Amino acid sequence: MSLALYRKYRPKQLKDLIGQENLISTLKKAASLGKVFHGLIFFGPKGTGKTTTARIYAKLINCENQTFVKTNGEPCAECPSCLTIDSQKTMDIVEIDAASNRGIDEIRSLKEQVRQAPGSLKYKVFIIDEAHMLTKEAWNALLKLLEEPPEHAVFILATTEQEKIPGTILSRAQKFNLKKLTQTEIIQKLKFIRAAENLSVSDELLNLIASRADGGLRDAETLLDQLISFAGDLDLDTAEKIIGKTSFKKIYSFAESLIEKNSPAAIIQLKELTNLGADLPDLNKSLIFYLTDLLTIHLNPKEDSLIKDKYTDEQLAQTKTLATKINIDSTIKTIKKFIESYEHIKYTPFGEVVLEVAIIESTK
Ligand SMILES: [Zn+2]
Repeated sequence: MSLALYRKYRPKQLKDLIGQENLISTLKKAASLGKVFHGLIFFGPKGTGKTTTARIYAKLINCENQTFVKTNGEPCAECPSCLTIDSQKTMDIVEIDAASNRGIDEIRSLKEQVRQAPGSLKYKVFIIDEAHMLTKEAWNALLKLLEEPPEHAVFILATTEQEKIPGTILSRAQKFNLKKLTQTEIIQKLKFIRAAENLSVSDELLNLIASRADGGLRDAETLLDQLISFAGDLDLDTAEKIIGKTSFKKIYSFAESLIEKNSPAAIIQLKELTNLGADLPDLNKSLIFYLTDLLTIHLNPKEDSLIKDKYTDEQLAQTKTLATKINIDSTIKTIKKFIESYEHIKYTPFGEVVLEVAIIESTK
């Protein structure tokens, strides 16, 4: 198996990061001023680039071409320090998974490592992933280190759960938020990989992957990996089955039938989806979210921004058109029926029946 796509296409410089403009500009500015933070915290949903950004930061402060860094606000990506960090072969970048290193011994060994001067790099960088999993003892030890960090040590915490980080730690670190990526941003990266790898994957498939990834780029790249490992050209139906997600096109038609109160058409669509092996709870959930988006944009036709992160431009245009046709009361009724069906569908072997009843009740 070749290198996983998300590793192979991991950003090496800030400019390669997608969708994190605020973070990028703050880090660039600090770099161009030659400023070094000894404590940083990256908050953000999974797969949005926290540890990747941590590694880029390690390069920014360790890069041997500091003139380049100050001019461009980027690591040079060519000097021995940059290359050794990219290759992950240096002992001076210590990555710790807090989920599995929570004990006293690990903390003692961390303290020991912090005390020792770096081997070849200027700064020793400790990247603590899943930091919200640290124990109380670990936080206390870390706090002491952050209060008086040795000049050569830098601590970067990455976490999905901001509220679990003690205030004492927060007040001693620079905080950065990474946001979920939009559909368009994820698709942009997937298209880049498709071109670089010369893959025959349709736009429709990339859209499907992006909607399944829900704002996390790493998930999207892993899904792409998974799909291309199947031989030959994949059609959309098979891809939907593999990744357990119904495509926009089908959700759209389904919602359209419901809005037009065309229960025969909706039932046929349901049968087709069931025959294709669709994940019915996911289908149910997707319908609820889609109908809610239609309602949102019906009430605020000029406020694209309320829903646009989830759709491509084409999908957004279709959604806006469909939204003009809905009746508020009956859409609310339909949403309620499908919320009810969702409460049952997870626990029953009769998922198809549950959905069929929801269709009939909401269209009568
Ligand atoms: Zn460099």
